Amino acid sequence: MGSATKPSAMRSIFYQRCPRCRKGNIFRYSIFRGFPKMHERCPVCDLKFEREPGYFLGAMYVSYALGLVTVTIFAALLWWATGWWITTDTIWAVVLFLPLAPTITLFARVLWIYLDQTVDPER
Ligand SMILES: [Zn+2]
Repeated sequence: MGSATKPSAMRSIFYQRCPRCRKGNIFRYSIFRGFPKMHERCPVCDLKFEREPGYFLGAMYVSYALGLVTVTIFAALLWWATGWWITTDTIWAVVLFLPLAPTITLFARVLWIYLDQTVDPER
């Protein structure tokens, strides 16, 4: 990867990189390996990730949507594989979803930062 070319937004979101420079990490280590703390500012371009108090409240909506989609997919797969009644099916889908909840919560923050920087970029 050359220094002049920016990695794609999809790739940067997946690797949780800063939306402005796409080099600095948003978290101290990958969200796929635990529950890391966020950097306050991008270590490369100094973009402040949490722009104001309560900034990540909006990420809860993203998190909710991601959670709903995940549970729905799990429920559909379980129903397809087992043919269980919808109540049993949904309970097991939620049980399977729970270990993913921290990762989805943090990933929602990444999506929220990207969404916010797309709509209202900080120069
Ligand atoms: Zn940056």
